Amino acid sequence: MSRRKLIAGNWKMNKSAAEGIALISEIKAQFSSCASNECCSKTPEVLVCPPFTTLAAVLAEAKDSCLKVGAQNVHWAEKGAYTGEISAAMLKELGVEYVLVGHSERRQYFGETDETVNQRCKAALAAGLSVIICVGETETERVKQVTNAVLERQVRWALADISTEQMQNVVIAYEPVWAIGTGKTASDADAQAAHKFIRDLLREMFACPSVADNTRLLYGGSMNAANAAGLLAQADIDGGLIGGAALKAADFATIICAAK
Ligand code: PEP
Repeated sequence: MSRRKLIAGNWKMNKSAAEGIALISEIKAQFSSCASNECCSKTPEVLVCPPFTTLAAVLAEAKDSCLKVGAQNVHWAEKGAYTGEISAAMLKELGVEYVLVGHSERRQYFGETDETVNQRCKAALAAGLSVIICVGETETERVKQVTNAVLERQVRWALADISTEQMQNVVIAYEPVWAIGTGKTASDADAQAAHKFIRDLLREMFACPSVADNTRLLYGGSMNAANAAGLLAQADIDGGLIGGAALKAADFATIICAAK
């Protein structure tokens, strides 16, 4: 089976609209030879996830290029009295294709739970968005050697009531929390072992083998221009979710090239 690699940049709470446009035009310049549809389908899929306020400007700048645009979060309700929240339909209307769900910073600082991760996934998928579900163990959990139990709990919860068909629009990012924004990275072998564990779990959860075979699993956690090639060469790692290094066009481009 062949899974197209996906390189996704999570800009977090960085970049104004003007800065976002500048970054997109720099990223496009790195890929000036990559403007045709044919070329777009040959290279890794490339996605940027700017803050909500920057989405419209980035979508306009990314139009007619191979770049796809995603959001960093979504609420589960269709509409209503949820001050400060954004619905899946609102993202879809803007032209957004992907949304991150359950990023560890959402879990850690904003009370995101396994249950709300599942609700957000279901709402996003129902609206026709693709989701990148983030899972991963904390440093304490790693030391206690409960990584697999944590991953299993998070993946089973996130995918509750999600059909085999909907899984075509699901990507899972393994992001060890201790590696996010710290400069520490899982070794190639440890990252591969965690990804294989998730793929084997999908095989157990879904009767249809194509789910495990086709679902893309990304690594996230201080992936950068220097370590990307080793991680992306692992059998079960189908791309990266990148924070810090996605804010610099040259570093992001190097990671994309490493995925080719
Ligand atoms: C992330 O935000 O998902 C992430 C992996 O960040 P960083 O690459 O900076 O560790």
